[in-house]
Amino acid sequence: MHCPSCGNDDLKVLDSRPGSDGESIRRRRECPACSRRFTTIERIEKSRLFVIKRDGTRCDFNREKVFESMRLACGKRPVSIETLQATALRIEEHLQKKFDNEVPTKEIGRAVMRELSTIDTVAYVRFASVYQEFETVADFAEMVETVQREEALNPFRHLQKELIAIPTQDEKL
Ligand SMILES: [Zn+2]
Repeated sequence: MHCPSCGNDDLKVLDSRPGSDGESIRRRRECPACSRRFTTIERIEKSRLFVIKRDGTRCDFNREKVFESMRLACGKRPVSIETLQATALRIEEHLQKKFDNEVPTKEIGRAVMRELSTIDTVAYVRFASVYQEFETVADFAEMVETVQREEALNPFRHLQKELIAIPTQDEKL
């Protein structure tokens, strides 16, 4: 790194402190040659996540697409956009942790289904019926029954999730 004023590359660090997001470090630096002071921000480089499609080709992971697929599945359902945005972010973070840099399409579908199953049953079934490749109609009927059984055991779980899923200030940024 060079001094922005004189180009000298022998810089002194005066002070280091955590950034407001908790994921970066701000360093106050000084150029001994010209006394110019400036701040640098250091943060962890996030690895680029690729999606391996069914035909074997790769494309960039797109959180917006995940959000959009959930939004469609939640059409006319009482699920807020904020909940879906927070969920899409959580899915991205989960996939990034679990897969490092390449994730198969079906794993994204699974992650979305897992989240939707706790948010809204109807949306979950809609999404699953499109993204999960059902071998037979019986598989589909079985899944609907499972969902109904879980629903009967805890009819308030969607409400709980809705309340828990309100994004924190950090997630909105
Ligand atoms: Zn300088």
